[in-house]
Amino acid sequence: MERKSFDLGDIVEMKKSHPCGTNAWKVIRMGMDIRMKCTGCGHSVLLPRSRFEKRMKRVLKAASKNEETENGA
Ligand SMILES: [Zn+2]
Repeated sequence: MERKSFDLGDIVEMKKSHPCGTNAWKVIRMGMDIRMKCTGCGHSVLLPRSRFEKRMKRVLKAASKNEETENGA
């Protein structure tokens, strides 16, 4: 099985979009559980990593390089 790669701060697309109509989630916490935040309405969801990997479709935008990093708190 292919291992999906994603990283903190990435914007990812899931198999199902959020009820608000947006399908772009920002990964805001990595660990055994992944916390992601809907970029449309700001709702955040915590998912076990295995479930997150199943639901994730692809990385829309990798967190990187010259983007300013938000430190959450
Ligand atoms: Zn939403």
